[in-house]
Amino acid sequence: MAGPSADAALAFLEAELSDLRQRGLFRHPRVLDSPQGAVAVIDGRRVINLSSNNYLGLATHPALKEAAERAVREWGVGSGAVRPIVGTLRMHEELERRIAGFKGTEAALVFQSGFTANAGTVAAILGREDVIISDELNHASIIDGCRLSRAEIRIFPHRDVDAMRRLLEEARPKARRILVVTDGVFSMDGDIAPLPDIVRVAREFGAIVMVDDAHASGVLGTHGRGSVDHFGLHGQVEIQVGTLSKAIGVLGGYVAGSRTLIDYLIARARPYLFSTSHPPAVTAACLAAFDVLEREPERIQRLWDNTRYFKEGLRRMGYDTGISETPITPVIVGEEERALRLSDLLFEHGVFAQGIVYPTVPRGKARVRTIVTAEHSHSELDQALEAFEKAGRQLGLVGT
Ligand code: PMP
Repeated sequence: MAGPSADAALAFLEAELSDLRQRGLFRHPRVLDSPQGAVAVIDGRRVINLSSNNYLGLATHPALKEAAERAVREWGVGSGAVRPIVGTLRMHEELERRIAGFKGTEAALVFQSGFTANAGTVAAILGREDVIISDELNHASIIDGCRLSRAEIRIFPHRDVDAMRRLLEEARPKARRILVVTDGVFSMDGDIAPLPDIVRVAREFGAIVMVDDAHASGVLGTHGRGSVDHFGLHGQVEIQVGTLSKAIGVLGGYVAGSRTLIDYLIARARPYLFSTSHPPAVTAACLAAFDVLEREPERIQRLWDNTRYFKEGLRRMGYDTGISETPITPVIVGEEERALRLSDLLFEHGVFAQGIVYPTVPRGKARVRTIVTAEHSHSELDQALEAFEKAGRQLGLVGT
């Protein structure tokens, strides 16, 4: 007997999608026909790329490519199993030792992505009797981990340590454990968490502190060791999460902390337990990336030089770059349509910078987000600034 078709059962999806389309909130992504780089071929056009997280240009570094090629030749392309069964290669452990050394912790554990590192860790260590106190602008993977944990979730206004303290006061009498969690660098505004204050206040209440350094590792601190190193807080942040997908240039995430924390995650973190480990090429390329970080510190210097140069240029034109302190510089324009229009005009003028709208950022705070890398030359940044000037004039965003 033929019932309604499968298509009919999914008709509600089309209704929701057409609503998103009408509000300009659905787009297929632009597509690259070149490697990730300061300049890239995107949707058939050669443009200056101001949207990647390839901060140090390692995604195409010869040393990483060679390490990956060698790993493929010697180890093949797949790891064959989840870590606890038979998917732990010697090089996985080597990478974890390397990360622990880099972060100055006893141990580290690699996950398939920064997303699974965050979500898997929060969900593993907290439960129903616990309270999580979280910055309102924390990454989606932290939010999902909080929900999966079933702990009570309390949100504090962005970087507001006084509000965080009030939530700690309320939580202390009833909570079994309390976790305070923050991004180290916030991905949409490019500002840095007030980690010394967060740590000091959390300590008073015996709370665990977790920082997600996805945008801080390879960017802040000596040799890019991250926000804990940047603030000299070694030994004071129990859980440091990072990603291997941004400045490190490859793919993956990790947790760095005490041996006990890492052993607990080996026993309980579900992405570690139930999802296949990284292929050899990914792991070998990550190992090579840590060598490059030590050997070529000038990459981080270039990243910061470019950051100052570009931010200064945007501000001089009169753009609102918000509270950014890092290579992530938002150009805040307010209305959603204007942000998307600015991004489109920039593309016509040879620059790709993603427009970002609600729900990724609050309504009225739509923006074009720019990220410079160590690979951009000053002349490319000058061209990008010219494009911002032209597009900004067309939209009446900067002086005519
Ligand atoms: N945390 C933050 C703050 C991020 O911006 C991202 C990436 N968008 C992640 C975690 C997830 O990292 P990955 O891309 O390695 O999954």
